[in-house]
Amino acid sequence: MICPTCGGECVQPAGKVIDEIFGMYMACSSCQPEPFFNKSAPFHEKIGSESGRCKKCGRRHIDFVMGNVLAMLKEDGFFPEESSLKEVGTPLIAFGFQVPYPPRLGKKSLVLIMDSVTKELAGKIVAGIPEVKGVIKRKGLQSQSIGILDTGATPHTYELLAGCDVRCDVVSSIFGELCIYKNQSRIHIEFNNSKIQKLEGLYLGGEFDNSVVLDGFCGPGTLGLLSVAGGARKVIFNDAWLPALRNTILNIRVNSGILGVDIESENCGQNKLIGDEPVLVAKGGGKAEILVYHADIRKLDMEVKDCDICLIDTFPSVNPAGFISLCREMAKKVMVI
Ligand SMILES: [Zn+2]
Ligand SMILES: [Zn+2]
Repeated sequence: MICPTCGGECVQPAGKVIDEIFGMYMACSSCQPEPFFNKSAPFHEKIGSESGRCKKCGRRHIDFVMGNVLAMLKEDGFFPEESSLKEVGTPLIAFGFQVPYPPRLGKKSLVLIMDSVTKELAGKIVAGIPEVKGVIKRKGLQSQSIGILDTGATPHTYELLAGCDVRCDVVSSIFGELCIYKNQSRIHIEFNNSKIQKLEGLYLGGEFDNSVVLDGFCGPGTLGLLSVAGGARKVIFNDAWLPALRNTILNIRVNSGILGVDIESENCGQNKLIGDEPVLVAKGGGKAEILVYHADIRKLDMEVKDCDICLIDTFPSVNPAGFISLCREMAKKVMVI
């Protein structure tokens, strides 16, 4: 599959990712042991692009990669000599799961979110450090969600300065694993097992069987795709934020081998960034019927009625209460996730 952002190989089918994920970041028999760098103390190791690299597998410990980035920032005079490793930024592995050991990174396996960086330096980092696939600059506070809080709000996005920001999280549930890709500069970072547990509760209660599910604030599509995995007959995805829907459509494609559904037609092209009246942007079929809408949820009832379950998953700072009565017009059961 071709990455829609960079045209490279960032996007792999979910089946391949899940087959390989447990070994993807594991040390080989020749990898160097844990370097035990102090991440909070001034860091003075001289780390270049070959430092710490395993001669057998070619990968290196994440701390060497971060040390390499810090050395580059200091060399440029952008960071003071006394800076510590933890000041560099937030590293996100390209294929995310709860890695039970410090990851050993191969080529293009890390997306970096940084508070303090320039476009020029970001370009140098991506060009000079093989493990880094993209550098994103954080805007605003860490607690501020990326995307739109509501359809009237100005979108809050981070800025992709260099490389590619597409990465994926492997989501595990009792009814299967999925890969959820996202453009990390435009989609809210969140990973929350309690959401999955709520869906597992619905699944164990048999509520997905033959059901029609509305994923009302679908983001990159996680809950709706899990509903397909759980046995829903039809899943309607909706979001007002177009970049989220582009990721949803990509995720339906990527997981098609696992879920037995695929996109049949798609048209995101002409849409505004923020939706209003419902526009059907994609349709799919297979084991379940799929509809993807770009709409303000308040207007979605113009097109969507008679669902069995509506899932409401708003940003942490948005009170979902206002949406419950609205969603009751469209679905028998409304669940705040
Ligand atoms: Zn890419
Ligand atoms: Zn190795």
